[in-house]
This record gives sequence, C-alpha cells and structure tokens, in this order.
Amino acid sequence: MPRIKVLPPDLRNKIAAGEVIERPASVVKELIENSIDAGSTDIKIDVLYAGKRLIRVSDNGSGMDREDALLCFESHATSKLSTEDDLFNITTMGFRGEALPSIASVSKVRIVTGLRGSSGGISIEIAGGVVKEIRDSSSAGTSVEVRDLFFNLPARKKFLKTNSTELFHIMDTVTKESLSHPHVGFTLITDNKETISLPSASGIRERIMQVYGEEFVSGLLGISYDAGEIRLTALVSNTLNFRNMRSHQFIFINTRPVKDASISSAVYKAYEGILPHDRHPVFFIYLDIDPPRVDVNVHPAKREVRFENKEMIYRMLLSNIQESVREYRSEYARPFSQTAEADIQTGVTGGYPSFNTPSALFPQSHVVAEPLDFPYMPSIPFIYLGETFVALSGKGGLTIVDHHAAHERILFERLLKGVSLNSHQLLFPRQVKVSHKEYAIILENTRLLNDFGIDISDFGHDTLIVRSLPDAIEEADLRGILSDAASCLLENIPPDRSLKEELAARIACHSSVRGRQLLNQESISGLISDLEKTEHPDQCPHGRPTRLFFSLEDLKKMFKRK
Ligand code: ADP
Ligand code: MG
Repeated sequence: MPRIKVLPPDLRNKIAAGEVIERPASVVKELIENSIDAGSTDIKIDVLYAGKRLIRVSDNGSGMDREDALLCFESHATSKLSTEDDLFNITTMGFRGEALPSIASVSKVRIVTGLRGSSGGISIEIAGGVVKEIRDSSSAGTSVEVRDLFFNLPARKKFLKTNSTELFHIMDTVTKESLSHPHVGFTLITDNKETISLPSASGIRERIMQVYGEEFVSGLLGISYDAGEIRLTALVSNTLNFRNMRSHQFIFINTRPVKDASISSAVYKAYEGILPHDRHPVFFIYLDIDPPRVDVNVHPAKREVRFENKEMIYRMLLSNIQESVREYRSEYARPFSQTAEADIQTGVTGGYPSFNTPSALFPQSHVVAEPLDFPYMPSIPFIYLGETFVALSGKGGLTIVDHHAAHERILFERLLKGVSLNSHQLLFPRQVKVSHKEYAIILENTRLLNDFGIDISDFGHDTLIVRSLPDAIEEADLRGILSDAASCLLENIPPDRSLKEELAARIACHSSVRGRQLLNQESISGLISDLEKTEHPDQCPHGRPTRLFFSLEDLKKMFKRK
C-alpha cells in the first residue's frame, strides 16, 4: 500500500494560504495589489474588528466578466502571465495566481465585479473554497469581501494578535501601498471610522507629505537619477534629521515594497562619519529597474527581490546619496576655519583647545550665534571641548562630562519619578500633525504620556493637540518626541526595560540640551549638581557614559610616567 498521496486541492490551497496569508493585513495587501493591477485610481478598504470579521476592498478598476470572475478563484489562474518568458518580464504586482484561491480557502468570500463599460456584473459567494452562490449583479469595478478569516483553520486563528496590533499591520500595509502608488487614492475605514484618507497625489513627495506632514518632508533631501535601465527617486534624511528607530525606512522596487539588506546598507554607508551612534536615517528609496534585470519570484509574499547586478545598484545608491549629503552640507555649513576665526574675535581662543567639530553638519540657522556670546572667563573651572564635552578639574584629576548625556540622565529620572517636572498649561496649545498610525497609537496611550506631565488630546485629522508640558521639554522638538513615543509604543521594547522607562528615555533624548547649545557657568553648575543627585549618574538612559574621570594616576600612566 503506497504511503504517498497527492493532496486534494482544498488542502493544497490551505497550504499555499499558509505562505501568503499570515494575517488580515496580508489579505489587505493582496486585494489592494489586485486592484492596482486592474488599473484602479481609487481604492477603498473597509475593515471590521481589525479585519478578523470583515475586510472589503472596493476599486474602480477594469473589473472582470462572468467567465473570469468564476475562474479567478482557481489555483494558478492569472491574467498576468502566460508564458515562461513573461515570468522574467513582470510589470504587475501579482503574477502567481494564488492570492484569491488562498484567501477563499480560509475565509468566506464574496466578490462583486463587472467589466468596465458593461452594465451587467456578477456576484459570487464562496466559503472555505466551496462556491455557495452565483447571482447577477451590477457593479462598476470590483469589490471583494472577506469575512471570518481562518474560520476553518483554528490553529492559524489562534496566532492572530490583539485588534490593535492587527490594525496597525493593516495601516502599515495601506501606508506602504499608498507610498508605492502615489497616483492612486486610498481610503481606509476601520469600524466605520475613516482612518486614512489619501486623495490621488501628483507624485512621491506629495504622497509622503500627505502621510507624514509638511514638516517631515522638509527634513528630507530629494534625489533623482536616471541611468536608462535603472532609475532612482529617493527622499532621504538631511544631516540633521536622524531617528532613534528604523521606523521610517522604505524600499520600493518597481513599485513593490520590499526589504533589501544591501540597499539599506548602501544608505547607511552614505552617512558614514555623520550618523551618530544609535541613530538611523529616514529613507524612501524608489528604484525602477527594467523588469528582466530583477527577479521578483523569490518570496511567496513577494517581500524580496533578486537583482541581476546588485553591486552596481549598491554603488549607484551610495554615490547618489553621498553626493546629495555633500551638497547639503556645503550649502548649509560654515567651514571650520571660519568657526575658529569667529572664536578668536570673541577672545575665546585663550582657553579653547583646537577641536575638529562636525560643524559642517549644521545648517547656518543652527550655527553658533549664541556660543559667540558665551561668557568665557578664565576663572571658571570648566572648559568646553567641542560642543558637547565639558572638562572640569578637581577631585585629583580631570572629569569630562557629555552635557547632552548628563541632561538626558537627569531628565529621564525626573520623568520616571514624576518629580520636579513643573508641568504647566501652555498659553497657546500646540498642534502637532503626525502620521495616522502615530496618531492612533498615541491617542490610545495618552494616559501614559500624562504621567510625564504631557497633556494630549485629539484634534482630528491626524493632528494632536498638546495642552500642557513639563518646563524641561517645552522647547523640545515636540513632533520628534511624539513620533518617537509612537514607535516605542508600536515596536518591541528592549526586554530589560518597562514601557514607561523606554518612553521616558526617548522623551529625555529629544528634550535634553542640543549638541550645539553651550551652557553658561550657572547652567553647568546646576547640571553637575543635578547629575550627582541621580541614581545612576554615570550613564545616560541608553547606557552611554555621561562622564569620564581621569585621575592623576591615570594621566601619568597614559603619558608613560611612573
Ligand atoms: P494574481 O494577482 O497573481 O494574478 P490573484 O489570485 O490575486 O492572482 O487574482 C487572480 C486574477 O483575478 C488576476 O490575475 C486578475 O485577472 C483577476 N482579478 C483579481 N482581482 C481583481 C480586481 N480587483 N479587478 C480585476 N481583476 C481582478
Ligand atoms: Mg493578486
């Protein structure tokens, strides 16, 4: 008796579904991509109960005739390729003919579709892969309704996460698809509330602006490059706009959102020497490559691709980003020699060691107007080394303090303990526009932020209104704080930390004295004494040192004196 059996089609589809349909967001992705392939300019996504109960994607695309509508649920049924050659020349999002049969095998599906230009249409209902009803219906475009995902696959259903997690994956998917297809309008309705509304945009920049706001885009450098068979459009961080997380990094190859380690590393490499430790650039990389030069048939959910010439792409990206960064720096930077000259004029040089600051990183507006007025007096027992380090003598040696890290430590502990925060009502409450995802997660967690003396409420349309703030962070980059707080709420936090601690660390990091701001005698004394009072004065909340001490003994050793 043979032990090998050819599996029945239903089981085959369920297995295929296991690869493609991981969670509600995967259904949303596949349906949106079908709508895009059908030439839609307007796509509406409706979900109930984070897509666990219902996902409906409606479009104004080409639609299908009766015959195609009946065929589209068959395995390996696709209109997007027919010969082997086609496989190496793919210009559509889909091509495997697997999504609809996979979805239909693990849920209850209804499709209503009608060919563009014809008055008739068809409605088909399928549950667990079995056709239940076929009716005539009228429809312009296509609407696919997916109910009770995994109703017949309890093991899979058990793995679904909470509604808010699943919903964030859905929003993430819609955001990514919208970024890769700026000309298409997208609406996402969750539990009857409009949560994303993006009218058709003129291009990538406008779409990024719609999603993240104008201020966000102003921190990006635009790049475009055309080498015939490879075309690059990119928006990347300028040298003042780095983040604590990799949350704003996107790669699109021929409009397909993908992950690609080599492209990411080219971007990081371009910022070498500029990117502070633990910080990450924002990037939106759009590559258009002649289809035969890129293999998209590598990953079942099409999240990865393989390039014919990976190295060339790496080099092209690296040189283009490096070039823009260089231009940005030369446009906004003041050469170091001028900085030194200015220092001489104010007489600061007496005690000022020669230092090689990354002054070229700062645009004119941020450059040292204040430091020139820095009240330097030789009697003051401290000295600035560069813009961040303060050297103090005493206690039988030399202490070097990183004033930024020290301030972070002080603020972090104050935030956690809720003491000395002096939160006050703002005379003019501040409106902050954030991305929709950030908006939703922050509104869900206002109580947590309230513990830090930050009072936030809803202002509608992805805008938050901040009504009170602790003194220490009033001047801080509020948008940065909120955006970072949101990524912290959305992403996995380090296991050795509580959410509250991680949030406090992020807020402290954004709020503490900026690198370029030199403190005066009084502030330095205050800083040193406040640092002494903290529980862990030697490390900032991210574990970097706040101060280093070199005893006379250490110095003797370093100078090889016994
Ligand atoms: P693929 O997209 O890989 O071809 P799918 O299973 O996702 O496979 O879809 C099967 C076919 O159904 C598609 O090739 C397309 O012809 C048709 N189809 C699916 N969704 C739509 C839609 N929204 N509008 C028009 N045709 C569609
Ligand atoms: Mg498809």
